[in-house]
Amino acid sequence: MATIPKPGTRVGFTTTIPVEVLLAAGLTPVDLNNIFITAADAYERVSGAEEEGWPRTVCAWIKGIYTTLQLHPDIPTVIVVTQGDCSNTHALMELLEAEGRAIIPFQFPYPRQRGQLQGQIEALTAACGTHEAAVHHVWQELQPLRAKLAELDRLTWETGQVRGQENFRFLIASSDFHGDPAAFGEELRDFLAAARRRPPQRQGVRLGLVGIPPIFTDLFDYLEELPVQVVFQEIPRQFSMPYPCRDLTEQYLRYTYPYDIFARLADIRAAVSQRRLDGLIHYTQSFCFRQIQDRLLRQNLNLPILTIEGDRPTPLDHRTRLRLEAFVDVLRR
Ligand code: SF4
Repeated sequence: MATIPKPGTRVGFTTTIPVEVLLAAGLTPVDLNNIFITAADAYERVSGAEEEGWPRTVCAWIKGIYTTLQLHPDIPTVIVVTQGDCSNTHALMELLEAEGRAIIPFQFPYPRQRGQLQGQIEALTAACGTHEAAVHHVWQELQPLRAKLAELDRLTWETGQVRGQENFRFLIASSDFHGDPAAFGEELRDFLAAARRRPPQRQGVRLGLVGIPPIFTDLFDYLEELPVQVVFQEIPRQFSMPYPCRDLTEQYLRYTYPYDIFARLADIRAAVSQRRLDGLIHYTQSFCFRQIQDRLLRQNLNLPILTIEGDRPTPLDHRTRLRLEAFVDVLRR
């Protein structure tokens, strides 16, 4: 077990975890996916891991996170989600531990179960050196910020005043609030004030994006060219925890990503109906087990779905551009 990190320490994590615990402990949360994918040399970070011996057939997100951590000795502790994310993360944890990094494991129970999740949150709270009352206080403090994110999402699908890539930028960052919820909240407040002054937009095909966040660097630019309004982003929206809840445990029980696909299907169905979606893009990652879930999405959702696959942080390849264009063309007609 890792020693308790000192307040002010930057603590990385491999997928969304109860960030309220880190904030209550005075730690700085860092979503490793976000700092990997927003780095100017994200592509080289994946290749760099392969040069160190990582297999070509391992997901690029894992390799990118690994290299990112090599470049960040200022992140001495990493919370690794060993259940509810993927087995690649489990092996990554072992490698990091062997290299001397402090590791705090966290598990989302499968199937979802309140008592077990509560136990995991309590263990995380102890490992971070804080206590339940402080975590509850942070949870309450974050509610207005989460409400603002829900408002940003509403302005995306209901009025079109927020563009798809703006929606993505804010919702994806809600896993760690860029390490500083107060500054993030101010940026969001100013953005919303400007967005509300824009005229409503209703043009083009209305699409939803489901599956893990795409690794492509220009997907939103290309979709806007077609034109398409992306008015639902399944997983980034989940990161923002958009549901009203009684407490922190309920919030992370309702979060759909780490559990079975059936709650995800219910969430997507509700969005399809409320947001009047014409179709869905299912993004899949090369070498990711979640590709298998494509079949369940198609069997259970009654609207056109285009499945695309990405490997590395690159612009869209020619074939994927053509497939997107053809899909949108069919929907428009
Ligand atoms: S994309 Fe899939 S394989 Fe890669 S880290 Fe995420 S869950 Fe694991």
